[in-house]
Amino acid sequence: MVLLCPVQSWTPIGTTMQITKIITHVLKTPLGKERFYSSQAAFPERTSLLVRLETDTGLVGWGEGGQYGPPEPVAACIHAVLGSQVLGSDPRNPAVLWERLYSMIRDFGQKGPYLEAISAIDIACWDLLGQATGLPVHTLLGGAFRESVTAYATGCYYRGEHAFGVSEDALQALADEARSYVEDGFRILKIKLGLLSIEADVRRIEVIREAIGPNVTLLADANHAYNVSNALRVGRELERLDVRWFEEPIVPEDLEGYRHLRQKLAIPIAGGECEYTRYGFRNLFAQGCVDIAQPDLCCAGGFSEFLKIQALALAHHTPVIPHVWGSGIALATALHALAATPWQPYTYLPVALQNEPVVEYDRNPNPLRDDILEQPFKLVEGKVAVPSGPGLGVTVIGSKLDKFTVTRQESKSS
Ligand SMILES: [Mg+2]
Repeated sequence: MVLLCPVQSWTPIGTTMQITKIITHVLKTPLGKERFYSSQAAFPERTSLLVRLETDTGLVGWGEGGQYGPPEPVAACIHAVLGSQVLGSDPRNPAVLWERLYSMIRDFGQKGPYLEAISAIDIACWDLLGQATGLPVHTLLGGAFRESVTAYATGCYYRGEHAFGVSEDALQALADEARSYVEDGFRILKIKLGLLSIEADVRRIEVIREAIGPNVTLLADANHAYNVSNALRVGRELERLDVRWFEEPIVPEDLEGYRHLRQKLAIPIAGGECEYTRYGFRNLFAQGCVDIAQPDLCCAGGFSEFLKIQALALAHHTPVIPHVWGSGIALATALHALAATPWQPYTYLPVALQNEPVVEYDRNPNPLRDDILEQPFKLVEGKVAVPSGPGLGVTVIGSKLDKFTVTRQESKSS
């Protein structure tokens, strides 16, 4: 009798698995006339850093970091410092590798590029762990509370010829943009403020509110444009316009200021996209700084550290709604984390944003998000499906990766 064995596409736990090669891709794509602005910066291009980990089993894992600032320093952290510890490690032990890597850089790199580098490596390890076990990352994180996540549109930046003013044409363009998100099926919209005078920015929000009506939820993000006294002024205007959260009103270092604003304003205060690791979020929670915590998994420490941040948040009864910015890998990463995020608090019929987490769905032009994966994300009835395949459950298209790669570097086992 001949026994036909099924093709084994995964590596059973108990056998060895080693990372043999680290490849980084610095991605850039210019936006031309579609450039836009936040309160802090112009966005003439979309950039990011993808990390590809190859193993002796043939399995390949992907991670992302370096989407905020220049991606090149993050690649340097990987190849010049962290790579020697990553090569030869078993990616199925991501928390162990995380602690090893963090201990290498604790004395000089507790925030910034080193943590973005660790985040990217950690995400790629969880992708490999999932592929090795045949399970999606959200299952490995503890299981899915939901199969799809309600999305909020991030849009209404300062754009093109209308970027720096509130002329009638500028306000008309803004109203049209806001209305288009509602027509696309979004029921929650996050807009930008902080680049113009408070009076001009309030006028923009009034126009957006008029355009979308009272039944679409509005959120506002200042990217830390204000000092405390101006943030109080703006916060009271946001309350008048029924805006449901005030994101990064002041600089992330001013924890006392955050605590003060939270005591003085009724509008929930959101923050944390510029914070890193369990230690940074411990300070936010312990000092009562935020109503909503927004770790970005591609910066704050990947999945391994997200679990610690989430546990801290749960213990402080603070909802976690990750910040998302970057390529399709970053979005897939956030969706797995959100799938595994409990209600805050539980109710029989959870309501999006009220106690059910939502996913940030940036609507600015971004080919790195829309073109690079074989499984593009889609909005269906206001929600985005969580990938269900092993690991991250997404596949990078090689030709698109090549198209957007400006620098490719590799380190491999000797
Ligand atoms: Mg933000």
